[in-house]
Amino acid sequence: MQSSLPEQESVTWLNRISYAGSDDHKLILAVPSLFIRDYVSTQYKQTITSLLHELTGEPVAVEFTVKKVPASPDSKEEEKTQPHREAMVKSAPMPKAQKRPKDPNINNSYQFDTFVVGDNSAFAYNVCMAIAKNPGVSYNPCLIYGGVGLGKTHLIQSIGNFIQESTPELQVVYVTAEMFTNEFIQSIGEEKTPQFRNKYRKADVLLIDDIHFLQKKASTQEEMFHVFNNLFEANKQLVFTCDRPINELQDIADRLKNRFTRGINVDLQPPDFETRLAILRRKCEGKSSYISSEVLEYIGKNVNTNVRDLEASLTKLIAYSNLLNKEITLDIAREQLKSTYSMSKDQSMSIDSIIRVVADYFNISPYDIKGKKRTKSVVFPRQIAMYISRTITDFSTTEIGYEFGGRDHTTVMHSVQRVEGMIQSDIAVSNSIQNLIRQAQNFKREK
Ligand code: ADP
Ligand code: MG
Repeated sequence: MQSSLPEQESVTWLNRISYAGSDDHKLILAVPSLFIRDYVSTQYKQTITSLLHELTGEPVAVEFTVKKVPASPDSKEEEKTQPHREAMVKSAPMPKAQKRPKDPNINNSYQFDTFVVGDNSAFAYNVCMAIAKNPGVSYNPCLIYGGVGLGKTHLIQSIGNFIQESTPELQVVYVTAEMFTNEFIQSIGEEKTPQFRNKYRKADVLLIDDIHFLQKKASTQEEMFHVFNNLFEANKQLVFTCDRPINELQDIADRLKNRFTRGINVDLQPPDFETRLAILRRKCEGKSSYISSEVLEYIGKNVNTNVRDLEASLTKLIAYSNLLNKEITLDIAREQLKSTYSMSKDQSMSIDSIIRVVADYFNISPYDIKGKKRTKSVVFPRQIAMYISRTITDFSTTEIGYEFGGRDHTTVMHSVQRVEGMIQSDIAVSNSIQNLIRQAQNFKREK
């Protein structure tokens, strides 16, 4: 096979395959990582099988197994004692699987193991896991989006940590879009753009967090576009996160949006109550203080859109308990977390108050708006309430969907578009909606 392949290719791939064992009609070959296994098995398995058939006159099955090759000094010894064998098979010396430096921006504690998977995150989790096991093979590029504190950074960095462990010869680069922007601007100032580009073009796996930061930054977007194309054409893995669906980003060049969404797009939804409890329980493990189920449930009920806030509540209680050497009762928890919770309630109140104003106006109940009914008399008010929520609050469509009885963000987007269409074509509808918006805003102020 070596004689039929370009030298570079056989050095890169064939030399990493070694004999691991065999039995009747089966040959087992060892490779150093899952990544290499998948590549080699899709690219060369067939050729190997047919060559073996030719050589032995019998069908021989080929299997690959992953075996870490320690960078052992003995291999040198072997070379010395068996010079003839080396010469005979004319192979280049086995390249040491060169380890790449770990990216200092990746936090070691963000691991797949520490991520609690619920219905809200199972799809995103599985996609990330698949990417980590086979970077650059399927799911490329990948975009993960979802609201604040739902685990985007945790997942994208888990990919980085996993690959750095399993395939250290791949160069993993993690940055936030903000860091990317700052580095880029600095490199222009210091006339070091070639070094800047080189860093990114050397990456085998590029992880970019929070790409919404690129809004309104035309020249950084341009640079990102080139980095993207370069890596994508070379089959390098790209993963991005964003706090909202891409088509809600403003002032991002269409060609870049188009790149971000080209591969797989997965959204992270807020966790349901059960998952929130599971997360809280997990976060309690290994902590010195005991926190009762009652208290955990109290937290789980009050914090419903953001895992970071769940953690913050726990941390606060544990600190309190440690400092005062007291067990946390439900009363203490209430007292300690009161101020935090009344603030966040106020925010989600605003969507509730919009729903109430709209429901009143159409003479239906707020439960109908949040509920499952699909009759026209409910669907239309629901769409209007979604439109108003989108217009006068800062909530993303993902969050609004959640407040409207756990609907998908695409439903919200669709509703917003429909109502926008009606406002443009019908002055009466437009006036009524303006009216409702005023009422909703007053309703909020009165509270
Ligand atoms: P985002 O980047 O989406 O804003 P992060 O990834 O920073 O959110 O998550 C916020 C915090 O919540 C982190 O400490 C993270 O470890 C934790 N977290 C989020 N989701 C989960 C989960 N499903 N299981 C365990 N911890 C989680
Ligand atoms: Mg983040």
